[in-house]
Amino acid sequence: MGSVAVMGKPHAVCVPFPAQGHVNPMLKVAKILHHKGFHITFVNSEFNHKRILKSRGPDSLNGLPSFRFETIPDGLPPTDVDATQDIASLCESTSRTCLAPFRKLLHKLNDPFSDVPPVTCIVSDGVMGFTVEAAEELGIPEVHFWTTSACGFLAYLHYGQLVEKGYSPLRDESYLINGYLDTAIDWIAGMKNIRLRDIPSFIRTTNPNDIMLNFVLYETVRTKRANAIIMNTFDELEHEALNAFSSLLPPVYFIGPLHLQVAQLPKDDLKHIESNLWKEETKCIQWLDSKEPNSVVYVNFGSITLMTADQLVEFAWGLANSKQTFLWVIRPDLVSGETAVLPPEFATETKERSFVASWCAQEQVLRHPSIAGFLTHSGWNSTLESISAGVPMVCWPFFAEQQTNCRYACSESEWGIGMEIDNNVKRYEVELLVRELMEGEKGKNMRKKALEWKTKAEESTTGPEGSSYMNLNKLINQVLLSPK
Ligand code: UDP
Repeated sequence: MGSVAVMGKPHAVCVPFPAQGHVNPMLKVAKILHHKGFHITFVNSEFNHKRILKSRGPDSLNGLPSFRFETIPDGLPPTDVDATQDIASLCESTSRTCLAPFRKLLHKLNDPFSDVPPVTCIVSDGVMGFTVEAAEELGIPEVHFWTTSACGFLAYLHYGQLVEKGYSPLRDESYLINGYLDTAIDWIAGMKNIRLRDIPSFIRTTNPNDIMLNFVLYETVRTKRANAIIMNTFDELEHEALNAFSSLLPPVYFIGPLHLQVAQLPKDDLKHIESNLWKEETKCIQWLDSKEPNSVVYVNFGSITLMTADQLVEFAWGLANSKQTFLWVIRPDLVSGETAVLPPEFATETKERSFVASWCAQEQVLRHPSIAGFLTHSGWNSTLESISAGVPMVCWPFFAEQQTNCRYACSESEWGIGMEIDNNVKRYEVELLVRELMEGEKGKNMRKKALEWKTKAEESTTGPEGSSYMNLNKLINQVLLSPK
């Protein structure tokens, strides 16, 4: 049995959805709550737990007595292949299979003979909504962490109406190319100048039984049972969405950028705890150190994006022809069904001014003084990390709410820090936009705007007046420490 002091601690069980872009920000929430005095149980999928141990070594998940890892199966067939799991399958399997092992875990943690304090609250990914069943059974507060942008989440919340109004499912495949996606969606309060193509991509299906469409419909309704919602964004960036949430959801707290909040924590024993599923190549940082300030384009499409071999070649020649210096991270499983292979002439042509890596410490890279622009897939974490580092973007959204993030990043009346590359990527467009980003007038204006957002992001996380700083304290006092 633990000591009285330990047993009296609040105990938060943190349950991320088992994908990179969800585990990373949840780990940050867990570290912050630990710093605020919570005992933490962090629940990884068995598959990810093994991968993190493999890529980062046993130390990466060696917690403290008051910060522990537990695992539950994700419900997919076991595999030793270290590749991105199929997201639709993962959504289907976690929602169908995870509640039983999760209940069992809570039971173990709450055993009077266990050496951890009783569980007092659950912080769950919004798309792991099954956890709310367990929280209700135990009568403890549950907070849902939606790891998307607020604008993306606002659009997800309107999936029900999009289906009711007949926008989705699409009548047939021709609707993907006949201009239909340009239809204005002007009836979502809190969203302006939005077209159907800017709505998260899962509506682009002809199948009424589509897993992702139905998953979003279900989880956005179930999330209303949570006691509060938290998001990795800040009031100044997305205040219109925040206002719109007030009539749709339980209280919403914007507490980001989380990595800026974590950077302010005193250097503690949790620094070594990490969540990257791939091993980072540290040499790219040394390479960046040798470059002039504001001279390098950083190219990375995140942990899930897939492209064809032809698209990879278009990006390669676009970058080569732009004549810019670049760091390009190519995940081993980036090209669907194949190993990513770059043309040999490309390597010869660019070897003096490029570094190709398989995975990197992205936050560190984006903060590096040599980085002047980011060619990105517009994943929310990447977008927010770029905003917080004052780095403008060229956007090539892949799926989910990346389309919405791209729209907001590129729209002058919203964030004004991005330019979009057509989905059917061609080398001349890559060349043109990358040049503009690095050398053009538009690039200069976007950089200025990005630096303004960077300042606002920093202010929001700095106490005692910062909005996210205050929201975090409110969340703890009003929800997590408050009896239900
Ligand atoms: N990331 C990283 N190194 C890489 C690529 C990505 O550390 O080489 C991190 C990145 O900092 C971010 C996450 O992985 O926190 C990717 O999340 P995001 O939402 O941008 O995209 P997703 O991978 O979910 O599509």
